[in-house]
Amino acid sequence: MEEIRTDPISGRKVLIAEGRSERPSDYGVSGASHVQKTEADDNCPFCAGAEHRTPSPIREVLDEAGRWQVRVIPNKYPAVDAHSTISELGELRTPFSPPDQAYGSHEVVVESPRHLRDVTEISVEHLAIVLQVYRDRLQHWSTDQRMRYVQVFKNFGFAGGASIEHIHSQIVAIPFVPESVESELQGASRYHQRHQRCIFCDLLTQELEQRSRLVLESGRFAAFCAYAGRQPCETWVMPTAHQSDYRMLNDEDTYSLAKMLRQVLQKLHILISQLSYNLILHTLPFSNSGPDHYHWHFEIVPRTTHLAGFEWGTGLFINPLSPERAAKMLRETKV
Ligand SMILES: [Zn+2]
Ligand SMILES: [Zn+2]
Ligand SMILES: [Zn+2]
Repeated sequence: MEEIRTDPISGRKVLIAEGRSERPSDYGVSGASHVQKTEADDNCPFCAGAEHRTPSPIREVLDEAGRWQVRVIPNKYPAVDAHSTISELGELRTPFSPPDQAYGSHEVVVESPRHLRDVTEISVEHLAIVLQVYRDRLQHWSTDQRMRYVQVFKNFGFAGGASIEHIHSQIVAIPFVPESVESELQGASRYHQRHQRCIFCDLLTQELEQRSRLVLESGRFAAFCAYAGRQPCETWVMPTAHQSDYRMLNDEDTYSLAKMLRQVLQKLHILISQLSYNLILHTLPFSNSGPDHYHWHFEIVPRTTHLAGFEWGTGLFINPLSPERAAKMLRETKV
């Protein structure tokens, strides 16, 4: 099977060109030779007892005994920061426009005091607390007039870009809406103008009816392989009832969401050996436009293929496993 598919929301194109391999990991960069070096617990800056090695926490969730369970700290090597100034290189100017200041904030969420690696190793209750911390940080940054968007993400494994294996995720507040979210917003807005409905809600209705790409469903959430997934087993998780902004998520729902995310990741770990992945939250930017037509979601993108010249040159991803076959494999993987 070879076909070019267009993501119904962003318009991004993907070439689905199925190989002959039976398992998603057969395509992969995620082989044994790429296994991340395991850091000894006593050398890990994120473990309990090593707090002095990281900057002071911005926020801590404590248990009854007063020990931290989840900890938010400033990134020691931020991609953006609140005190940035234009570098001297900026003075040289580019031909058409001067560089913008990389103003923003970069935080790390240490998800457990124990030296664990992935969310499959923490409890659903604990993951729900992490999901609440994301919400609280979004809420915090939404009150900063300078910020337009907060990107919550997780890099897991070597190919996912993780540099420390201790379970963590990252939160970057930026003063603009990133291109990936902007293209989804524009697609969703065009659809809403034409049909007066949310494109994500309509997409979900179809996925739940067709079921060929469905991975899991509960009353509140659904997980399905993206129709134009960029990588084998790319899975989206979203609320079944319309909700544009992740900040609207209530505590009870964080529990059901945690349960689903954890199950999807358990399946991926079983199906793909030496799994690497990126978990990305897309939510409504801090502005008033789009509450009717945008719909927050998590994108889980396993990193099983290299991005090479073709992808860089064309912006077109090649996915060697059809989302329908991937969903079937995920459904059949028992956890
Ligand atoms: Zn550790
Ligand atoms: Zn919706
Ligand atoms: Zn998205």
